[in-house]
Amino acid sequence: MEQKKQIRKRKDYLSWDEYFMSIAKLTAARSKDPNTQVGACIVSSDNRVLSCGYNGAPNHFNDDSFPWNREGEPLETKYMFVCHAEANAIDNFRGYKKEFEGARIYVDLFPCNECAKKIIQSGIQEVIYLSDKYSESDSTKASKILFDTCGVKYRQMDKKHQKEFKISLKPDTTIEYV
Ligand SMILES: [Zn+2]
Repeated sequence: MEQKKQIRKRKDYLSWDEYFMSIAKLTAARSKDPNTQVGACIVSSDNRVLSCGYNGAPNHFNDDSFPWNREGEPLETKYMFVCHAEANAIDNFRGYKKEFEGARIYVDLFPCNECAKKIIQSGIQEVIYLSDKYSESDSTKASKILFDTCGVKYRQMDKKHQKEFKISLKPDTTIEYV
């Protein structure tokens, strides 16, 4: 009897980590900050996207009059006013906060200490990040103390998952891996 050739599944589909980090990165593209674009994606323990956020001006603060400066008098810099991606992702969620229990957050930059506190209080239990470029800052050091003390796990996304691909929004195209 002739054996039918079995069609196998695609091999280059995205892993969960790759998929959710991609959503975080794509969300970052909404940021109007000329220097730093950060995106965050919160995912339930059963791999459903719960919420996304990016760094930006608070609601009703006109983006065009927002001070995006990094240097100068404190009131002339963004730091006093900007809402971070992780905080926005938590605040953008419209469901029952109970769903955050055991959830994880994907973010392309290690969370600052203010976001770390929000993450802990929300019930999120794991942080997956790409860059830790401010690891020497007091803010990042405080975040790690907070996470270690409060039992929130954190890990950098595995190098083997740090892929690059191109998404085209033109019809009838597929993802191109670089
Ligand atoms: Zn933050």
